Amino acid sequence: MNSSIQQILSPAWLAPVVPEDTVLTGHSLVIEDERIRTILPRNEAVANYPNVPEIKLDRHLLTPGFINVHGHAAMTLLRGLADDREMMDWLTNWIWPIEGQLVDEQFVYDGTRLAALEMIMSGTTCAADLYFFPEAAARAFTDMHFRAQVSMPVVQFENAWARNEEDHIHKGLAFRDSIKNSPLISTAFAPHAPYSVSDKGFEKIGLYAEQLDLPIHLHLHETATEIEDAVRDTGMRPIARMNMLGILSPALQAVHMTQLRDDEIELLVTHGVQIAHCPESNMKLASGLCRVQDLRQNSINVALGTDGAASNNDLDMIQEVRSAALLSKVTSGDATSLSAFECLKMMTLDGARYLGREEDLGSLEAGKIADLTAIDLSAPVFQPLYNPVSQLIYAATGRDVTDVWINGHQLLKGRQPQMIDSASVEAATAGWQARISEAVT
Ligand SMILES: [Zn+2]
Repeated sequence: MNSSIQQILSPAWLAPVVPEDTVLTGHSLVIEDERIRTILPRNEAVANYPNVPEIKLDRHLLTPGFINVHGHAAMTLLRGLADDREMMDWLTNWIWPIEGQLVDEQFVYDGTRLAALEMIMSGTTCAADLYFFPEAAARAFTDMHFRAQVSMPVVQFENAWARNEEDHIHKGLAFRDSIKNSPLISTAFAPHAPYSVSDKGFEKIGLYAEQLDLPIHLHLHETATEIEDAVRDTGMRPIARMNMLGILSPALQAVHMTQLRDDEIELLVTHGVQIAHCPESNMKLASGLCRVQDLRQNSINVALGTDGAASNNDLDMIQEVRSAALLSKVTSGDATSLSAFECLKMMTLDGARYLGREEDLGSLEAGKIADLTAIDLSAPVFQPLYNPVSQLIYAATGRDVTDVWINGHQLLKGRQPQMIDSASVEAATAGWQARISEAVT
């Protein structure tokens, strides 16, 4: 008997993701420190680990924690502020002026804590984030005990965090040094978009990313207008330009990827590019469609992101994956596209692969990190219950999540946040609501 073992979890159903299309009943998962020690029949777990506390989850489905592969956590403070506008109107007349006026370290710290609280309470245990002041975002995620890839942002224009491209890269590298030993925070280069970073900037980022073995996180082919403007200004489509600059590789996390031609999909296959699909943001801003079915049929990894709460408006991965499933079926004309089990894999293991973390995250297997989510399936909306994974994807929302573990620590227990000062997050949010309301009137 190993005295460091912390918990036995005994759910009604356990969907490990590996092996695929599997739901186990009568099984327990044993957490030891930050990792999954084993998964075995409950009677064996109780017999083999007699002094370990058992958490019974009699009405619950236990899954890997959800992985949100694209977002702007701090922008949660702008949620619902300028809805129902064209994307460039939304960005240039609302989001960017407000950001210019108000964004500082405290804005990023408080907004990121609010986003982390929302994500934990809806079953997400890891997110890829992109915003200014990454050191404040990393501090917020760390204080919330939340796992994140916090990017080093790069844009050409001056903002509150950095003066120009060079300064962004310089500050980003200093940020990278500061989080080197963090168990929860990793980083990536994040050139914002092809239209906001120069050729020289991309070349530098490509070089550093290769040398330092870092991913590159990039908004790419978000809208038809972006592509038309690029053809007008550079003579080529953004993907062709990224190819010319050597940016296409398995380390590229390409976000949105609408308006793809067949030859561009071939290019993505050749270079093993990772895709972030953000269906609700793409629909809300009328950005366009991502050919998820075609990408997946070509063995391209497509993971799932909510994008920022200013364009979604929530960070609920269960609702997001349902949107992905329904959109894929209607756009492909194929009702078998993105099945419930494929959706669960998309929001867990495919996300881990996108982040280069599939050895550690994304499935319930012995030796992997204990990032876990339990969903209560006892409400009438889930009855009768023939397939718990179908109920999760097609009937649940993030509000049905009751229990969450990150790095072996239970952060949500019966819907109550643990180890987290949620009252101070709410107070800070109220303060920002007052300041932002005043700024826009
Ligand atoms: Zn985005």
